[in-house]
Amino acid sequence: MLACNSRETWTDFLQFVKTKCSVTAFGNWLAPIRVVEATDEEITLEVPNIFVQEYLLSNYKKELCAFLPVDRFGEPSIKFIIAPPPVRKTTTPIITQPVAPVIQNDKTPGYSDLKLNNQYRFESFIEGPTNQFVKSAAMAVAEQPGQIYNPLIIYGDVGRGKTHLLHSIGHHIRENNKKLRVQCITTEAFINDLVDCLRNKSIDKMKYFYRKEIDVLLFDDFQFLQFRRNFEEEFVYTIECLKNKGAQVVITSDKPPSLLKLSERMIGKMTGGIFGHIGEPDLETRVAILHEKARQKGMQIPNEVAFYIAEHIHSNVRQLEGAVNRLSAYSRLMNLNITEELVSKALKEMLHHAPQEKVSVEQILKCVASAFQVKVSDLRGSTRTKNIVLPRQIAMYLAVEMINESLNMLGISFGGKTHSTILHAKKTIAEKMKTDTELYRQVGAIRQNIHI
Ligand code: ADP
Ligand code: MG
Repeated sequence: MLACNSRETWTDFLQFVKTKCSVTAFGNWLAPIRVVEATDEEITLEVPNIFVQEYLLSNYKKELCAFLPVDRFGEPSIKFIIAPPPVRKTTTPIITQPVAPVIQNDKTPGYSDLKLNNQYRFESFIEGPTNQFVKSAAMAVAEQPGQIYNPLIIYGDVGRGKTHLLHSIGHHIRENNKKLRVQCITTEAFINDLVDCLRNKSIDKMKYFYRKEIDVLLFDDFQFLQFRRNFEEEFVYTIECLKNKGAQVVITSDKPPSLLKLSERMIGKMTGGIFGHIGEPDLETRVAILHEKARQKGMQIPNEVAFYIAEHIHSNVRQLEGAVNRLSAYSRLMNLNITEELVSKALKEMLHHAPQEKVSVEQILKCVASAFQVKVSDLRGSTRTKNIVLPRQIAMYLAVEMINESLNMLGISFGGKTHSTILHAKKTIAEKMKTDTELYRQVGAIRQNIHI
């Protein structure tokens, strides 16, 4: 049993957590929690919704056990109260079976008109050996939604054209099968809608809409459902209902679902579907994509120039597109023809990774220090306290990723660390980011700041 009152230990817990998570995460998830009652045996917390409760338990259970009373099973002894004003309710799972229809005369956020990128069509999707199968599957689904491949799961690395294919399906159905109701949504938007609907108590409308009112669900960036158990549950029910009524579901993800951290049930729902992988486009496909992107911009790129670019940019088609955009701006500004020389000038940074040389360890340290509110000298030092170790490892990770220097040299810039310390830090963060989405975002945000 704890000697001091749980109310104070809750404050201590918050102080501790503050040093471990980003300011935004703290503001979003922890700051809104209120202590309602606290004894030495139990603490009652009021949370704005069940996701906050879940976030707390799934991210900070160990710390909660250390700071707060624990029950006889060793679990934190917390009673949660959900607080949707004006009526206070006790914890009830928000995920339930489909509910009776609600007459819908006002629009709930998120169900707005279908937002499809007008450029993302089958006609502008260049086919090659690494995407042929998936393009055919997508076209078959667009021709006969709900009848052959259901769900269709399109997966592959970033920038490979997953969203392009997803929107192509949407366009095709909208143009050829006007009666079908299509909903195209990203995982982030789906989650935001859910949270909004929870807040304004229109969750039943949303459930009804998703389960009954759509014939084709196009769901982008499925990987963001990882570690969001309640949302995942909601999604499982949704696809179950849609499949049962013969509606088509198409999902994109950066990894096959079996490699994502999802519930068995969710993985189970996917197994009946068909999987299409988009691999790295080969040289000819990249060249054809470049020509297509240039054509869309009203530009013509000589073939040898297209080959030159495609030989330098391999895996991410978005970068190919970026190259065309940059080239178009450059040639227009300078009023020059597109030659290999112009390309090498205009795309110097992209082709030779020059930005990496521009970043210094000092810059990285400053950005990391400010993100974690620690001192640069601590990051360079050798304190082993947890709130320093993580940012230090992140800084080392970023240095290896962004600076073209030997590990030994980087070690020196980090206050005389060995190359194996730097390597270990790099591997640790890379490994953690595979499962810790919060960390993944945090590192991404810092990286962006370094470039500003
Ligand atoms: P992802 O969703 O896989 O990250 P996107 O669908 O957003 O990738 O594609 C990134 C960019 O590359 C888009 O502009 C898209 O049109 C283009 N792209 C990718 N693959 C192809 C392809 N095979 N043909 C034409 N454009 C492509
Ligand atoms: Mg995408």
